[in-house]
Amino acid sequence: MKALEKSQSAEGLWMIDAPVPEIGPDDVLIRINRTGICGTDVHIWNWDDWAQKTVPVPLITGHEFAGEIVEIGRDVEDLQIGQRCSGEGHLIGHHSRQVRAGKFHLDPETRGIGVNEQGAFAQYLRLPAFNVVPLPGEISDDIGAILDPLGNAVHTALSFDLVGEDVLITGAGPIGIMAAAVARHVGARHVAITDVNPARLDLAARVADVVPVNVAEEDLDAVIARLGMKQGFDVGMEMSGNQQALDQMVEAMTMGGRIAMLGIPPGKSPVDWSRIVFKAITIKGVYGREIFETWYKMIAMLQNGLDVSGVITHRFPAAQFADGFAAMKSGQSGKVVLDWT
Ligand code: NAD
Ligand code: ZN
Repeated sequence: MKALEKSQSAEGLWMIDAPVPEIGPDDVLIRINRTGICGTDVHIWNWDDWAQKTVPVPLITGHEFAGEIVEIGRDVEDLQIGQRCSGEGHLIGHHSRQVRAGKFHLDPETRGIGVNEQGAFAQYLRLPAFNVVPLPGEISDDIGAILDPLGNAVHTALSFDLVGEDVLITGAGPIGIMAAAVARHVGARHVAITDVNPARLDLAARVADVVPVNVAEEDLDAVIARLGMKQGFDVGMEMSGNQQALDQMVEAMTMGGRIAMLGIPPGKSPVDWSRIVFKAITIKGVYGREIFETWYKMIAMLQNGLDVSGVITHRFPAAQFADGFAAMKSGQSGKVVLDWT
């Protein structure tokens, strides 16, 4: 099969011929139809410090996928050949206290496909049946291929009650934009989204009913006044990973505000902790998706009118993967999807 591999300890990825994976009794084999390129994959392409410390070589990369089950392990029940599916790319153990308490997403021993284990940028993927998420007919393979990052957005957005609340999202990347659409869908009042990249803010305004704010040009106090809000935002979602964004968010929050942090800052971030204390702000770190509650809720929302399809801006055949990565690095893209059929 064709597969996109980190074959050498150097920048880039290479399309190779690899054996189709053999499955164990509890696994399924998935024929991949579409994959999404993630920021994580760009880190692996660039071979930055994080990637060099984390990713073994050689490794087939990729973790955002949709496909169809073509083979089933002998102990697998409730799944059929021909079932369209996506799946959770975090492989969990069975030993930690968190897993034994049913909090699968908090397993300290989690391993990621395409990061620690063979990934989904390939014509076939082996996955534990436990990780499979069947796709209903109305969810396309394109959307199926971005359920992993949509899940990040949904997990973050549903961290706090948003009904009637004024919501601030910092970072209009694909995940921030999808979180804005989710916040609207579940009944937030104002949803403002910040970025410093006008192309990203334009995309946000096309995909969701949001107030785009270029923080290079307008400060958030002016936005709070413009929207007629008395104090500040009730709920914040940090989705930029930029070190100044959290500080800006804390300043723009109301008393008792709640912040969910998904963005990963490159190092220690300066933030005025006394402001967090005096404003009595709650901050929650968000990692991955709740397994499988986030999947359940996002599929239900997609079946009930949540539309994030506009966040996909580029589609390429898998053979043109280099164009896909170039689009990702351009700063002009939303999600980039590769076609493996
Ligand atoms: P992205 O890099 O595509 O988007 C980030 C956006 O933030 C960019 O559009 C950038 O222009 C913008 N930005 C830069 N400086 C800013 C500032 N000062 N204020 C506001 N915006 C600013 O990322 P993405 O794929 O949408 O992911 C969002 C974040 O979530 C990233 O930091 C990513 O690493 C992180 N992430 C975390 C998890 C997790 O499990 N915690 C999972 C996936 C992604
Ligand atoms: Zn991803």
